[in-house]
Amino acid sequence: MPKPALRFYNTLSRQKDIFTPIDPEHIRLYVCGPTVYDRIHIGNARPVVVFDVLARLLRFYYPHVTYVRNITDVDDKINARAAERGISIRALTDKTTAQFHTDCAALGALPPDHEPRATDHIDGMIAIIETLITRGHAYEAEAHVLFDVSSFPDYGKLSGRSTDELRAGARVEVAPYKKSAMDFVLWKPSDANTPGWDSPWGRGRPGWHIECSAMSRAYLGDVFDIHGGGLDLIFPHHENEICQSCAAHDQSHMAHYWMHNGYVTVSGEKMSKSLGNFVTMAELLDTTKGEIIRHSLLQAQYRGPLDFSLDALKESEAALNGLYRAVGDVPLDMDVAVDTACLDALADDMNTPLALSRLHKLASMVNRGDASAAPVLKRSAALMGLLPDTATAWFQHSIKSHDTHDTHDTHDSHDAAIQTLIEQREQARADRDFAEADRIRDQLAADGITLEDKAEGTVWRRS
Ligand SMILES: [Zn+2]
Repeated sequence: MPKPALRFYNTLSRQKDIFTPIDPEHIRLYVCGPTVYDRIHIGNARPVVVFDVLARLLRFYYPHVTYVRNITDVDDKINARAAERGISIRALTDKTTAQFHTDCAALGALPPDHEPRATDHIDGMIAIIETLITRGHAYEAEAHVLFDVSSFPDYGKLSGRSTDELRAGARVEVAPYKKSAMDFVLWKPSDANTPGWDSPWGRGRPGWHIECSAMSRAYLGDVFDIHGGGLDLIFPHHENEICQSCAAHDQSHMAHYWMHNGYVTVSGEKMSKSLGNFVTMAELLDTTKGEIIRHSLLQAQYRGPLDFSLDALKESEAALNGLYRAVGDVPLDMDVAVDTACLDALADDMNTPLALSRLHKLASMVNRGDASAAPVLKRSAALMGLLPDTATAWFQHSIKSHDTHDTHDTHDSHDAAIQTLIEQREQARADRDFAEADRIRDQLAADGITLEDKAEGTVWRRS
């Protein structure tokens, strides 16, 4: 059966465009990753989930997809945090990167194909900066190298800002070495206490924007299919990436499609570190399964705002309970066709709320006795990274994902105690001591554990 055409809203064209790959045999996707100085909050988790769904969808359509998401491990915020804690920069970035991976795994996000660290690509950044200077797009001033925005007439095309507007909006305090307020840093000097690398302009470090130009080029080439990130990256980060890459490589495009996810809000206000209204993944994972957070983040179409609340998490938990009850322990069969309506919704600019509502229709078909809808539900949910567990596993673990071993151990020992009681009950039944068997069942029920006797044995779940 032919698949519906993929259509994505392209920030560059300001409309939903049919996705036409550069090479249908190899789709190339780059997404800006985290600056690793602190645990991510739910606002930072949204692009992780959104672009994971995109990667899954692209893989469903095309034979080969390369998904690159970088780690920014050189940044003034990192230097400040490491100094504050009295640890080395590498220790801070290694630890934060490991925590980020824990959070991504809890969210059910598959690892990208490549996850370059900026500090492993300094040579590539220096090479691009040298080309920009040679081609007259950058200049050196007081140990800094700056991009000359006036040399790039298309500047402002992605964000839809005219250079006049940008000039008017540029900060009042302008560094004296800048030719124009809009010019931005490609390279800056480092003092003895700051990380630095030797370069033709002295010991220094890269500006943030040049990192992504170098890392995307290293894995995806001068021009690739899709560049993604959060809405707040359009200007100046992505605008600057475009002019650096296009000017250095003499291309009209860096990426053909630019996709941006909306903000996570709290009572209508953007969740952010600076506003202090954020909830970290680590905090939430103490009480909430990662899949519930993932489901909650897919409740709104990715481009719009998503208001985060504990009530919304409760709704997601109830929704997932319903889906798991319907799908049961049906195994995932990749040969089963994805539900047409679900695929139509995802192909239309990743309309996940519509696709989720379709999953619930499939669940009610199962509940009305149509067992054939269960494998379709399982397969369709997998396209969004949902329902990876069996229902048995889902209901057994009230909290699935933790970043501390302690909680795991508590759960494991609790699970072991339940298992022991079940075995005692089975022995009692074998001995025809039904009073004792019922007593054990009631004891477990009082602890919120429900038993189900099945042909293959007794299974339990937390009710
Ligand atoms: Zn970037």
